[in-house]
Amino acid sequence: MIDLIPDAILRLDADRRIVLANPAVERLTGHRPADLLGAVCAEVLAPRGRDGHPVLDGTWHRSASMRSVRLLPEQEITVTRVDGTDLRTYVTGCYERDDDGRLTGVVLVLRAAGERQHQASSGIEIVSTVSHELRSPLTSVKGYTSLLLNRWERLNDDQKKMMLEQVNHDADRVTRLITELLDISRLETGRLVLRRQLVDLGDLASTIIDKVKMEYADLDVELSMPAAFPRVYADPDKLEQVITNLVENACKYASPQGMRVVGEVDGDEVAMAVSDQGEGIPDSDLPKVFTKFFRRDMGKPTGTGLGLFISRGLVEAHGGRLVATSVLGQGTTFRFTLPLLDLDEALQS
Ligand code: ATP
Ligand code: MG
Repeated sequence: MIDLIPDAILRLDADRRIVLANPAVERLTGHRPADLLGAVCAEVLAPRGRDGHPVLDGTWHRSASMRSVRLLPEQEITVTRVDGTDLRTYVTGCYERDDDGRLTGVVLVLRAAGERQHQASSGIEIVSTVSHELRSPLTSVKGYTSLLLNRWERLNDDQKKMMLEQVNHDADRVTRLITELLDISRLETGRLVLRRQLVDLGDLASTIIDKVKMEYADLDVELSMPAAFPRVYADPDKLEQVITNLVENACKYASPQGMRVVGEVDGDEVAMAVSDQGEGIPDSDLPKVFTKFFRRDMGKPTGTGLGLFISRGLVEAHGGRLVATSVLGQGTTFRFTLPLLDLDEALQS
């Protein structure tokens, strides 16, 4: 029966040697089941967790020592195929124990973390996060408008103004969230359309800084662009979104003071770096800030956690890169590059 199961199944003994593998394991990893029998799992498949650290290599997961635990929680594990390539999988399974509760082995079920499955799970994740994010501004819009309608006569102008400002602000939040979601779906399905034109990055940055100043009156940015900075062939709206997010993030999570926006020309590409003088981001969080919905726990309200994910997508859609470096206690720099296209070539393509 186990041969008919479409998912790859591996059974390991107490020493983490493979004692059973079904044909689906070969489809997934290229290893023939017969060759796997008796082999130490960590040696042939080199399983690694999300953080890149080896798993099943000499010790069991913490939960294995708890006698009452039978099921392994689903984990994302990367294994090495027979041809040396890596494969991302989702692994579930159950522990096998003797009558005294001692571990005798484990049965693992591996599934390729293919794009479709990945998108399906991120779809559910998006719906639940977004429903929550949309509800709070809408609740406030509904609350204030009802109040205004029911008590119009009894409210003074200042109160009315405050409520309308709040409604206006929350409506912006909803609009922005929806725009972000549309961007994500376009980026993920490759349907993002860039309306490219010649853009002066220095002018764009200075316009953005003026706009952000309306919200952060104490914003103090030093913008420095080298003389004769070449124009880039890019979508100005998308670049505005990227730079705005970087500058706003620096204001919100670092400090509006002592910020620097610096343009650089480097061979066949240009770069723009936004540096702040905030607390910095610890190494362990740094790569995560680019993932969907990631927000650091920093004891103050944050946004939706989509800005940097989208910004990186938008920069990459232009053929550039967006990276972050940070020194704790000194600040963080987000730097993106854009290729300098040969304009004649670009216009022809
Ligand atoms: P959104 O941009 O969608 O409104 P957000 O600002 O929370 O929401 P991102 O822009 O993706 O989302 O940023 C993700 C997280 O990274 C932030 O919540 C914050 O914790 C952290 N972060 C971003 N920029 C900085 C910075 N300059 N200094 C310190 N932490 C930062
Ligand atoms: Mg942001």
